[in-house]
Amino acid sequence: MNNRDKPLILVSNDDGIFSPGIKALAEVSDEFAEVAIIAPDRQQSAVGHAITINTPLRSRSFTIDGKYSGQAVSGTPADSVKLAHNQLLKRRPDLVVSGINHGSNAGINILYSGTVSAATEGTILGYPSIAVSCTDFSEDADLTGAKDAARRVIRYVLNHGLPRGVTLNLNVPAGPLKGIRWARQADSRYVEEFEGRVDPNNRSYYWLTGKFQLLDRDEGNDINALESGFASLTPIQYDLTSYPLLRELENVEL
Ligand code: MN
Repeated sequence: MNNRDKPLILVSNDDGIFSPGIKALAEVSDEFAEVAIIAPDRQQSAVGHAITINTPLRSRSFTIDGKYSGQAVSGTPADSVKLAHNQLLKRRPDLVVSGINHGSNAGINILYSGTVSAATEGTILGYPSIAVSCTDFSEDADLTGAKDAARRVIRYVLNHGLPRGVTLNLNVPAGPLKGIRWARQADSRYVEEFEGRVDPNNRSYYWLTGKFQLLDRDEGNDINALESGFASLTPIQYDLTSYPLLRELENVEL
């Protein structure tokens, strides 16, 4: 089988090209497809769906372990996927995967996540897309289970595709995989968000340090699954319309 018959998987992330997680996801993708890594050239966590409009983007070639070649982009995760689609890839990818992120992207983290946004950008561009995160922040986290879960979900999506407009968001605890549960996004938020300090010039400054708060008391959310030791898999959408409220309000005269 030459490369033209093989599917192509675009691998991106938000932790940058040097993160162990992106190498792990490239290894799993390589079992199914030709792999192209196009990702930010530096740490870009929590940039959400930001794009770069006031400075040019640059890309440079790199290889990981002499095996996986790619392009490091001087922009955000969403920039990387846009540039891959529009300029850098020689053919259309069959799948876009983002991760493996070092840190959970369950609950409200979905909204702040650059990892999820790289996958969402893939969805916007019309490609089936998956975001993969491990709940352990550390660089040397045990990604065995995350790789295992990613393998299962990649296989499913390559075989079955995804409906237009939907991204899969996969979160996995560190260590061996216990199983994967379909789950919805937990209602959650951050509290006590800032620690205030004073600098040597007597001016105030603030560090973002928030504590995660779970507001969701109903079963079946992603945080529940993770707390039970399972991976969570959530279909998410970038269409933010509240359809129930729209239906309720659309006949209200203003
Ligand atoms: Mn990250």
